[in-house]
Amino acid sequence: MNRAYISIGSNQGNRREQMERAIAFLMVLGGVIVKRSDYFETKAWGKEDQPDFLNMCLELTTIKSAHELLKVIQDIESQLDRQRTQKWGQRTVDLDILFFNDAIINDDHLTVPHPYIPQRKFVLVPLAQVAADVVHPVLHKTVQQLLDSCPDDLEVVKVG
Ligand code: ADP
Ligand code: MG
Repeated sequence: MNRAYISIGSNQGNRREQMERAIAFLMVLGGVIVKRSDYFETKAWGKEDQPDFLNMCLELTTIKSAHELLKVIQDIESQLDRQRTQKWGQRTVDLDILFFNDAIINDDHLTVPHPYIPQRKFVLVPLAQVAADVVHPVLHKTVQQLLDSCPDDLEVVKVG
């Protein structure tokens, strides 16, 4: 059985409803959700002229490979995109694979661990709720240690 950590974010439309839909799809198509973080709200990272983001992280056990899981999350993204009413613009939901066991993958389709984990508090704060002691297989630091040394100064506010 494989263990994956997934981050889910949304900054458009009914963010929480879309994220709950993504989670429901993951339970059907992806595997078993073992843990889920609270929801956290953050100002858009890097680009500030966008609505605030809602973010959360999940721990998933799955029989799927990393690339099969990528296909699942892309199918979920396009399924949710298709359901939205607004015209083309920001995506409704973004799902990223943060860790997949202690795999290190770098190919045209997939980078695992996800490259921005150490820089992004909006990833690290929810991830620390479900994976504080998980060790980053490249940096050899726990998620909690990465959070403690993260220079990101954006506020990440728990919204339940
Ligand atoms: P971002 O998540 O950086 O805001 P996108 O979701 O648009 O941007 O990026 C999607 C692309 O990123 C996909 O084509 C996918 O192949 C690639 N990708 C590489 N590594 C990962 C990963 N760990 N999780 C999800 N997508 C990834
Ligand atoms: Mg993505």
